[in-house]
Amino acid sequence: MTRVIVVPYDQLSRHRGSMRDADPGTDQVLMVESERMLRSRTWHAQRLHLLMSAAAHHAHALRAEGFTVHERSASSMSDGIAGFRAERPDVSLVATEPRSRPLRRVLVDHDVALMPDDSFLTPRDATVARWAGRLPVMENFYREQRRRLGILMDDGQPVGGAWNYDADNRLPPPRGGHPWPAPLHHPMDELDVRVWQDIRDRRLPVTGAPPDGTWATTQSGALRQLAHFLATGLAGFGPYEDAMPAGTWTVNHSLLSPYLNLGLLDPDEVVNAALARYDEGDVPLSSIEGFVRQVIGWREYVNLVYWATDDDYADANGLHADQPLPPAFDDPTRTRMACVASVATDVQQRAWTHHIPRLMVLANLSLIAGVRPQAILDWMRRMFVDAAAWVMVPNVIGMGVHADGGRMMTKPYAAGGAYINRMSNHCKTCPFDPRKRTGEDACPFTTLYWDFLDRNADAFAANHRMGQPMAGLRRLSDLDEVRSRAADVRQRLSTGDL
Ligand code: SF4
Repeated sequence: MTRVIVVPYDQLSRHRGSMRDADPGTDQVLMVESERMLRSRTWHAQRLHLLMSAAAHHAHALRAEGFTVHERSASSMSDGIAGFRAERPDVSLVATEPRSRPLRRVLVDHDVALMPDDSFLTPRDATVARWAGRLPVMENFYREQRRRLGILMDDGQPVGGAWNYDADNRLPPPRGGHPWPAPLHHPMDELDVRVWQDIRDRRLPVTGAPPDGTWATTQSGALRQLAHFLATGLAGFGPYEDAMPAGTWTVNHSLLSPYLNLGLLDPDEVVNAALARYDEGDVPLSSIEGFVRQVIGWREYVNLVYWATDDDYADANGLHADQPLPPAFDDPTRTRMACVASVATDVQQRAWTHHIPRLMVLANLSLIAGVRPQAILDWMRRMFVDAAAWVMVPNVIGMGVHADGGRMMTKPYAAGGAYINRMSNHCKTCPFDPRKRTGEDACPFTTLYWDFLDRNADAFAANHRMGQPMAGLRRLSDLDEVRSRAADVRQRLSTGDL
């Protein structure tokens, strides 16, 4: 019986899962384009283009290898598979374990045989079983990964004698000029142009800047980006990993997450290439450790959280947040907050910012202003180029806005303007003052930080990790003024008038 391999748009690896042993002589491929998915949200143009163009390039490469590739456009993934089954009852359908719960339900409903997804470093079922009923602390998970995978280990101990180099890796932006790596441009090819024309002709709902070569859409482009990062970014990755300096949007970040999340790169090839570069000798231990932590630690950890929690995790709203998404996130002209306007502009232009603008500007503001978790989750899912469900659900619900009751993070990532002032240059050009919590020119982050603690005092009363900030709150002598200013800030943030 002919085997037809169902390939979703986010599993484009030729050599993993159900494609590992695929043979063009005996196997065929089915790729379904779901109209429901395309029109379910107003996607960032570059996010949707990458998804569609990478899939189109992958289909092209498989055909060039000799595969018969059935590309179907259907109202939904389910309808696409059902239609194909009706036409071809003579074939067996297989797929790799998919990367989202809804798609998994569709494939199971249609009796598609599922093979393990071996493109993560941790086998899904075994890892979920290992941590059954509770989520590990990320640091413990990461250390176990280092030991299990034997990465940066020396006779059972971490190379260099320490598990992390956060003290070295949390530097503020350097003073004066700094030689940041120039981003690599990926010229659009004919197929990229055709896919973009198709998006426009079909009037698919998109926003943000159109595709411009910021993102590669092929495996070879992804490999060029990996080589570029190893040559220009890795050595300096650690020290400014958390900084938000002016004059660079990449800092020393790798820009590899979209390719890893689409299957154009595999985490082991990325880590092995980075370790080989480290072995050449001029990459500091703090930089290679910081990078390895992102790939074998954080990335695998959020995947574990996604699969170890239930369907309703994405709907959690443990702090009862009910404010709408700030209009400034979609339109940077609707705020005078320099940091928010700058980060929102970056998102509009490239569908990407690194993890600290995401966490400490966008998610932090949503957390302390009380934005409804599902509003910020949906926005990030449609606006970021690498925003797969398994990435964004834990990162937003658990880490960003602490909506899961502390299952993932024991303490919310809440901060006032002082953190942003330390880690960026934005406050210098902002009409607000990061040191002030009351008054017309008080930094909204600083006001909202204290108001957030006050509003959620009961929720944090028993959290020993919140003891210090809550003690600080009790010492405030101007709490009534803070509350009054915060009410005004929250109202103006929600109407795009702050
Ligand atoms: Fe952002 Fe506050 Fe700094 Fe302005 S003062 S840039 S709002 S942190």
